[in-house]
Amino acid sequence: MSVAIESLFTSALGLQLPWSVQTVALDTARRRIDFTLTCSAKQLRCPLCQAPEQRVHDRLHREWRHLDFFQFEAWLHAEVPRIACSACGKTTQTEVPWAREGSGFTALFEALALSLCQELPVRQVAALLRCQDKQLWRRIKHYVDAARALDDMSGVKLIGIDDTSLHKGQSYITVVHDLDAKRLLFACQGRDHQTVVDFAAELKAHGGDPKQIEHVCQDVSAAYAKGVGIALPEAQISYDRFHVIAMANEAMDEVRREETRTQPKAIKEALGDNDRKLLRSLAWGMRKNPEGWTVKQTHAMHWLQHSTLKSARAWRLKLALRAVYAKAAQSNNAQQASQELSAWISWARRCRLEPFKKLAKTLSGKLDAVVRGMLDNRSNAYVEAMNGLLQQAKRAARGFRNPAYFISIAYLRLSKLKHLPANPLVNALPKANVLIHRCL
Ligand SMILES: [Zn+2]
Repeated sequence: MSVAIESLFTSALGLQLPWSVQTVALDTARRRIDFTLTCSAKQLRCPLCQAPEQRVHDRLHREWRHLDFFQFEAWLHAEVPRIACSACGKTTQTEVPWAREGSGFTALFEALALSLCQELPVRQVAALLRCQDKQLWRRIKHYVDAARALDDMSGVKLIGIDDTSLHKGQSYITVVHDLDAKRLLFACQGRDHQTVVDFAAELKAHGGDPKQIEHVCQDVSAAYAKGVGIALPEAQISYDRFHVIAMANEAMDEVRREETRTQPKAIKEALGDNDRKLLRSLAWGMRKNPEGWTVKQTHAMHWLQHSTLKSARAWRLKLALRAVYAKAAQSNNAQQASQELSAWISWARRCRLEPFKKLAKTLSGKLDAVVRGMLDNRSNAYVEAMNGLLQQAKRAARGFRNPAYFISIAYLRLSKLKHLPANPLVNALPKANVLIHRCL
C-alpha cells in the first residue's frame, strides 16, 4: 500500500511518534484487516523507574483485536520493545498507548464492549463482537473495579437496603442504594447483619461517613436492623411500602392456597367452576390492581367478592392496607397515618386468618418505622424501579452462575460510575462548510 494509506491509518489509530503504521494488509476472503505497527525509537523511558533514554533490549511480538474496520475484523500487530534499564537494572516491556498491559483487546475495543454490556446481555454482546463471553466478563470486572476504586460516596445520607436472590431461593445478594443519587453503592453476597457492617466500611473507604447516614429504608428483616444498629449509629429505619405490601400479598396468597387445598368444594361453589385456569385467574386477579384485570380475572374476582370465602376476606384486608398507604401519602401526616394503620392492625388481628394475624403482630411491633415508611415517599418508587433493573442485570448475567459476575454487571449498570471508559462510537461533528451553508 502507499505511504499515504499508512499515514492515514497512523492518524486514524491516534498513533504518535515513535509509533506508526508500517503495513496494512486487507484480506477480503478472510474478512480481516491487519495493521503492523512499528516503534522507531532505539531508546525509551524505563516503564518501571521512568529513567529516560534506556536501551531497547529486544522486541516481542504481540497482537490486539481492534474495532472493526467497515465489515472487516481489525487486528493490530507490533514488536513491543523491552527496555534494559541501566538505572534499576530490570528488563521490562514498554507500555503501548492503544491497550492495557496484558489485554489482547485494544482500549477502544474494550470501551465499546463495555458500553454494549450496559444495554445488552453479555452473551449477546460477545456474539455481536465475535469473542468469548468469558473474555468480556473479565474485562467488565477489571473496569468496574477500577472505576469503583475512584467512586466518591461522600455526602450519602439516605440509603435503601434490600436483598435479591440470584437463583430462586438461594445465593442471596445484599444491595445498598443511595436513594438521593438513585444509584447502587454496594453489593455483596449474603443477607445477614455483617453485610451492613461491610457496607459501612466500604462507605468510609470511599470518603463517606457512616455517622452521616440519617435514614435507612429496608424490609422488616431483623438482620439488617441489627447491622444498622452496629454500623450506622445515627440512622433511623423505615420499612418501605414495597416490602410491606409484598408481605400482605404473601399473607393473602397463603390464605388462598390453604383454602384451595382444604376447601376445594367451597371454592367451586363460589366460582361456579374450579378448572385450573379459573383458579389461576383468581390467584392473579387477587394480586393485581383492578385496573389491570383481564376478562377472566374480572370474572373470577366478581364471584370472589360475592362469596364468604376466607380468600375474599384476605383480599379485602390487602386492599385496605394499600388504601392506608395511599391516604398516608396524600396527607403526609404521621399521627393520622399511625391511627389508620393501627385500625388496620386491629382488624387484621381479629380476622381469624393466621397469616394476617402474624403480619399484624409484625407491623405493630415496628409501628413507628412502618409509619415513617408510609410518609417517606422518596424511597418507594425507586426501590421498585431498582428491583426491575436488578432483574435485567440478572438476565444479562444469564449462563454465568458466578455471583461476582452478577455484582460486577449490577455495578456497571446501576452505579452511575464516573470513571468508566467512554463509548468510542460517537456522532461525527458536522462539517464546518455545511454549518456555514446552513447559517447562510
Ligand atoms: Zn528502570
